[in-house]
Amino acid sequence: MPHRTIHLFRKGLRLHDNPTLLAALESSEVVYPVYILDRKFLMSAMNMGTLRWHFLLQSLEDLQRNLTKLGSCLLVIQGEYELVLRDHIKKWNITQVTLDAEIEPFYKEMERTIQVLGREMGFDVLSFRGHTGLLLFRILDMNGGTPPLTYKRFLHILSVLGDPDMPVRNLTTEDFQRCKPAPELHLAECYRVPLPEDLEIPRDSESPWRGGETEGLQRLEQHLKNQGWIANFTKPKTIPNSLLPSTTGLSPYFSLGCLSVRSFFYRLSNIYAQSKNHSLPPVSLQGQLLWREFFYTVASATPNFTKMAGNPICLQINWYQDAERLHKWRMAQTGFPWIDAIMTQLHQEGWIHHLARHAVACFLTRGDLWISWEEGMKVFEEMLLDADYSINAGNWMWLSASAFFHQYTRIFCPVRFGKRTDPEGQYIRKYLPVLTNFPSKYIYEPWTAPEEAQKQAGCIIGQDYPLPMLNHKEASDHNLQLMKQVREEQYGTAQLTRDLEFMRDCGLKHLEYD
Ligand code: FAD
Repeated sequence: MPHRTIHLFRKGLRLHDNPTLLAALESSEVVYPVYILDRKFLMSAMNMGTLRWHFLLQSLEDLQRNLTKLGSCLLVIQGEYELVLRDHIKKWNITQVTLDAEIEPFYKEMERTIQVLGREMGFDVLSFRGHTGLLLFRILDMNGGTPPLTYKRFLHILSVLGDPDMPVRNLTTEDFQRCKPAPELHLAECYRVPLPEDLEIPRDSESPWRGGETEGLQRLEQHLKNQGWIANFTKPKTIPNSLLPSTTGLSPYFSLGCLSVRSFFYRLSNIYAQSKNHSLPPVSLQGQLLWREFFYTVASATPNFTKMAGNPICLQINWYQDAERLHKWRMAQTGFPWIDAIMTQLHQEGWIHHLARHAVACFLTRGDLWISWEEGMKVFEEMLLDADYSINAGNWMWLSASAFFHQYTRIFCPVRFGKRTDPEGQYIRKYLPVLTNFPSKYIYEPWTAPEEAQKQAGCIIGQDYPLPMLNHKEASDHNLQLMKQVREEQYGTAQLTRDLEFMRDCGLKHLEYD
């Protein structure tokens, strides 16, 4: 008997390479494409700032437009997901709910609740892995049921397993025609995508990034035209303070599943196959996708992955609790222009380059302020368009040298780091207009400018822009000793995720900005 199905979109907000939606269409006589906008659930799962709300609503609008082109429509239903499902399963005589399998504990909990509901109300639940974690279960199996804790080991297992499954076929008008709900229900009018005003989300803070599959695919195609750039992509050589992204800028689209990681993976493989030489993981573009898979794999099987306490791979560190200093970092008031410009870009646009993330994360944690990575992770979670449970926590552990990264004696200098790739400070001038008129010589350390130069620049340090909140040399020397002691005391934990030789072999010396 063909099913009457609700296809529940969660993260996979796209129509290309969508195996779960395809399975829904192939097994049903009616499919209702539904997004449940459960604000309470969303905000409790991961704090979502204004920019990401806009990005999500734009992605839903785009999905709605693309479904309409295929003769279907997206039904956005507001309310608590369990109540919404109970209500509509009865109303539409549903026999099946399909949804992408996800690895985050809050999505797994949701899936369990839906399974229980299914047993109670008599409907089937079908889920496939479509978003990411392409080979996740096979990797865990191959590694004896535990996640590989180093990228080297992860790559080794992948080399044995081979490539992920190919992307699935595109969906067509015929697929949706066969499964169309009765037109007299007037569903499109009843369940439209809400406007920001409906959710009281201010319009004044929209990011230059536009959400949705269409925009994501356009950006992707644009990059893929530049085959030489793709083939030679070497992450550490990309520029953190370029005025336009020097990397693909696709992360917000992967994060909501507007783009398929798997499709991108195969498009890259095709380009590599045609080029004589191409870069390799960990620094190649495919290597970046594999970092994503790596953190998903480790997160999927590590308890308390987004916390320090109870997290077996994470060093237990007695970080300072200093609300005032944390606030200065968050609000771009550290007095170090390179750090403050990055945090300003994060506030205004919701995206910053990977090495810029390095700079501010190191500054907050082991470099200067000795404040917990969890605090930084929460700020990123709220502000980033690409905020992601596994990748965010994984990278914060990395940057704070709590796990994965072990060259802890390398501390990024908040003055020299940015200067190397942008000596004139154009990036700082863009994001901190108060410093625009400073001579390049002083732009990274404006407090060293003579009083006359400050007057001429129209900005008195300590009055119009803060003095540096600390002495970097003193703070970082002190923190280095603290970190050394922690690592000696917790040698076993420190060794768990150690990949040092591999990183050195891969030429990651480019990351020396200390
Ligand atoms: P590209 O260099 O073009 O890479 C292509 C894709 O590969 C990215 O879109 C992303 O999906 C993946 N990728 C790249 N670098 C990494 C990485 N280090 N780890 C895992 N996947 C990677 N990325 C997120 O997507 N969400 C986050 O919440 C997030 N938080 C971070 C927090 C910190 C402290 C740091 C240092 C990094 C974080 N990253 C996060 C990883 C990385 O900075 C971004 O994925 C990358 O900068 C996005 O830009 P891009 O799409 O141009 O990347």
